[in-house]
Amino acid sequence: PVAPSPRPGLLDIAPYVPGKEHAPGVAKVFKLSSNETPLGASPAALEAVRDVAGALERYPDGQALALRQAIAEVHGLNRDHILCGNGSDELLGLIAHAYLGPGDEAIVTEHGFLVYPIQIRAAGATPVTVRERDLTVDVDAILAAVSERTRVVFLANPGNPTGTYVPMEDVRRLHAALPKSVLLVLDAAYAEYVRRNDYAAGIELVSGAENVVMTRTFSKIHGLAALRVGWMYGPKAVIDVLNRVRGPFNLNALAIAAGAAAMRDRAFAEAAADFNMLWLGRLSAALTALGLKVTPSVTNFLLIHFPDVDGKRAPDADAFLTARGLILRGVAGYGLPNALRLTIGTEEANLAVIEALTAFMEG
Ligand code: PMP
Repeated sequence: PVAPSPRPGLLDIAPYVPGKEHAPGVAKVFKLSSNETPLGASPAALEAVRDVAGALERYPDGQALALRQAIAEVHGLNRDHILCGNGSDELLGLIAHAYLGPGDEAIVTEHGFLVYPIQIRAAGATPVTVRERDLTVDVDAILAAVSERTRVVFLANPGNPTGTYVPMEDVRRLHAALPKSVLLVLDAAYAEYVRRNDYAAGIELVSGAENVVMTRTFSKIHGLAALRVGWMYGPKAVIDVLNRVRGPFNLNALAIAAGAAAMRDRAFAEAAADFNMLWLGRLSAALTALGLKVTPSVTNFLLIHFPDVDGKRAPDADAFLTARGLILRGVAGYGLPNALRLTIGTEEANLAVIEALTAFMEG
């Protein structure tokens, strides 16, 4: 070879494509493509950032103790079982790199988050994709796919981009039937939005098992996507392994301080969840009334299915909306070529979406 070449398989990875940011030529743009909160971050988090900004010459605390302590107190957990990451993306990557290698398999679901197969392949392992039923994870299909090579199962609950959720009873059943050697990763990035009595994001399951972890993020309801803050709760043995392979200062000081402040501002997060519930309901009703199909969602986004009619398909709607400054997420890469994902926005953005989709459907 004349040039350095990466490990076999790495060039088969399709890079992650983030949501669109721009609508060329349109002055006023609403970005509704990355499930960011329309309400910003807690004022307490912003103040914490300003405080830290006065001492940028100092390394951050490599243990992120203040952040782990805040999470532990608010959620009633032991901080030794918590690990923080540069976004939950980093934690998902650490898990893959620590628990997977060539010859191993990891199970993902049909419309699952695209970071999983990327990290599985990056670790040299093979993703095994199982079917979903009605855009919802099918626990029995996962169990049927388990082989002697299975090392990890990645399960987003709620799912992205579907917005659907798996009842805790099914998650418990999945865990009970999995071999003890398989690590079950419950990705609960949208946990704070879920209003279901049986939903516990997996906390209780982690507490009682050696092979379950739950990942969470500050990028959604806490409004800190720019700072990249994620956390996970897991057995001590798993945390210990990941602490060996992570970078020594994987969270920056702004992220640690802002995350801790945001976690303690529970009133802010609750108000954000209330706002989301209100508009999730209003948008679902309005879009359904237009004749669009909307997958019932427990998150801060809606999956909208377009008619299979010339001029009315998802790419047509995408172009129509983008021309009006409304940026949604195309989800063809998730196996959903005739749907768009809409993040709940400000009142102004949501009303603009309803108005534009009314014009699109009537046009
Ligand atoms: N998991 C799921 C299901 C997600 O939708 C996202 C955000 N797109 C993430 C994990 C990653 O979030 P972050 O890295 O910002 O914490």
